[in-house]
Amino acid sequence: MCSIQMTAPMRADQTCVQLNDTHPTVSIPELIRLLMAEGMDFETAFDTARRTFSYTNHTLMSEALETWDVELFRSVIPEIYSIVGMINTHLENELRGRGADDEKIARMRIIADGRVHMARLATYVSSFVNGVAKIHSELLKKDVLRDWYEFYPERFNNKTNGITQRRWLGLSNPGLTKLIGERIGYGFMTDLYEIKKLEPMIDEQLVREFIEVKKERKRSLSKLISEREGVEIPESFVFDVQVKRMHEYKRQLMNALSIVHIYKELKAGRLSDMPATAFIFGAKAAPGYIMAKNIIKFINEIANRVNSDPDVNSKVRVVFVRNYNCSYAEHIIPAADISEQISPAGTEASGTGNMKFMLNGAVTLGTYDGANIEIVECAGEENNYIFGAKVDELTELRPHYRPRDIYEQSAVVKRAVDSLIDGSIANDPDSHRVFIEIYNSLLTGDWRKPDYYFNLYELENYIARKLDAIYDTRDELKFYTKCLRNTVNAGKFSSDRTICEYAKEIWDIKPINVNK
Ligand SMILES: *Cc1c(COP(=O)(O)O)cnc(C)c1O
Repeated sequence: MCSIQMTAPMRADQTCVQLNDTHPTVSIPELIRLLMAEGMDFETAFDTARRTFSYTNHTLMSEALETWDVELFRSVIPEIYSIVGMINTHLENELRGRGADDEKIARMRIIADGRVHMARLATYVSSFVNGVAKIHSELLKKDVLRDWYEFYPERFNNKTNGITQRRWLGLSNPGLTKLIGERIGYGFMTDLYEIKKLEPMIDEQLVREFIEVKKERKRSLSKLISEREGVEIPESFVFDVQVKRMHEYKRQLMNALSIVHIYKELKAGRLSDMPATAFIFGAKAAPGYIMAKNIIKFINEIANRVNSDPDVNSKVRVVFVRNYNCSYAEHIIPAADISEQISPAGTEASGTGNMKFMLNGAVTLGTYDGANIEIVECAGEENNYIFGAKVDELTELRPHYRPRDIYEQSAVVKRAVDSLIDGSIANDPDSHRVFIEIYNSLLTGDWRKPDYYFNLYELENYIARKLDAIYDTRDELKFYTKCLRNTVNAGKFSSDRTICEYAKEIWDIKPINVNK
């Protein structure tokens, strides 16, 4: 074990450690170990740690809440394991002293079922616990950390995430930055709320200038995608974008099925007045996540089929960009017209991509989930395209949800899903093998219930809302006024605001003026 020399006595009132998710939680028992090595008794060391640490939860996915096998933990870091044991005993005594029954204690134990539960450890030995959007912080109290909220309600609070406008506007979109700055000055670069000063100046002239900036960003992205991906995206198309990690809960699959629907409608001679649209995807899958890779393959095969079909490729193009990362995002996000944020309600903790798009003047096509809710609170439902079930509806539906009923009752759903097995998108053996796994995950289920994230339940609603957004671009002035109303109302979503809230409400520190 490494040894850190303490040069001065530990002062919990002068030291804060913010645990950014459960991953660094082992630092709690490690601090206690170090303090005890300096001669402090356990009780004082525990109290010092509790006053030092706070914990930010970043996900509602139960499989992402970290636990470690006791045998592994003990064999790698035995001296820390023994501290975890002491913390666990302290917890049990505290809970019993406050009247908890055995059942409740069993649900809250840090060491349980042969595993060390890191989120429980982080929640127990913390001053504050926060989620990263209003809905997420509420769901922590109601659901994931419900027992903990009952015993320690004063610890729980919310810190809605933010993004930095220096990178996601100043660096990535100099044209829009200049358009704004020339009218209201550049104060919004350090105080994003100032961007609201532009709102009363919105008129036809300003929107026309905004459209020119958007077109320039689309031209530039189109050139980059042509060079990097070998796919031609005409700059005159509507740019409908979904970029984020590849995960079933983010429902890239539902987006893909909606594109299959549009493809089939066009082939049947319908939707012929639809504005030409490019569907742009970017995502990485975790190395062992087979279904995520299956979905990437499906989207790439849709792209091959659509882009090479002369019946439809003047109306639709599809691209899945390689190696999506922050640098690529800087090129993609300013060029977007439509921002896809379509996770089922109660699954996306916050999202930050949604904020980057909003700031750059894209409308959100999204669900009542994560920070989408707060985005729409600020920018107005009428300037965005919100659809789908709220959390309570899905919670209620979950136990008796039967996706096969929807598949059998809806011709739209059936036709889109059947494209996975009828060879209409791709019929080589590799595609067949991959697509059938997706098909089964929707209708039969794998290790979970079928269609665990309600793709089929919401597909028709989603398609309708998506076509609303695409068709609304026909009135260019009206559509881009909505876009600009998103930009001017993005003030809340600066990470400067987020950090100020952590400073005031958790760390108890005050800003200093660096110019003095
Ligand atoms: C902002 C960002 C994300 C987060 O996107 P979400 O849509 O909020 O999941 C992921 N990856 C990259 C490269 C980003 O820039």
